[in-house]
Amino acid sequence: MNFLEEKIVKDGIVKEGNVLKVDSFLNHQMDIDLFNKMGEEWKKRFEGKDINKILTIEASGIGIACIAAQHFGVPVVFAKKAKSINLEGEMYTAEVESFIHKNKNQVIVAKKFLTEDDHVLIIDDFLANGCALQGLIQIVQAAGATVEGIGIAVEKGFQQGGTMIRNLGYQLESLAIVDDMDHTTGEIKFR
Ligand code: 5GP
Repeated sequence: MNFLEEKIVKDGIVKEGNVLKVDSFLNHQMDIDLFNKMGEEWKKRFEGKDINKILTIEASGIGIACIAAQHFGVPVVFAKKAKSINLEGEMYTAEVESFIHKNKNQVIVAKKFLTEDDHVLIIDDFLANGCALQGLIQIVQAAGATVEGIGIAVEKGFQQGGTMIRNLGYQLESLAIVDDMDHTTGEIKFR
């Protein structure tokens, strides 16, 4: 087991409905030493890639992306979910359905922060059905920018997102891939 898998086994909680709760270290309280190791690992895995920007989605992706960005020395742009915020100028939008909340959100990135010159690493906390990633990829494509790779903390390998993204030809680096989990026993199996 790697460092993230060990942390998931120690502090993750398997909930009913195929939900893995990791709010004590990943997406509510945040373990910055762990984020730092994750950033270090992605830096290794994307060695040689010409990355000048990290793109993520609010809210849970932001902390992880910011710590990872310190290893890449690049800025972070996050896609915003609300429509009512103060965004000036033109923007790229995509529709994203939430696995957890079962609702649809428009995600938005201002055009001035993503251009055809950008070589983007997409970072997020979870990959389940891949809706969030598809939305982010759509936005990068609309900008004429290049997706250099995708870094995910926890991929739920029993849902279709990972296969779909890999079949599209992207380098997808998930630091922990959960292939099976059981909420009655709490057991988690990794790939
Ligand atoms: P997808 O769009 O790939 O279906 O789901 C990705 C998003 O759903 C992630 O950004 C994450 O916020 C949320 N998510 C999906 N599955 C889980 C889960 O098992 N646990 C938690 N905590 N979040 C999840």
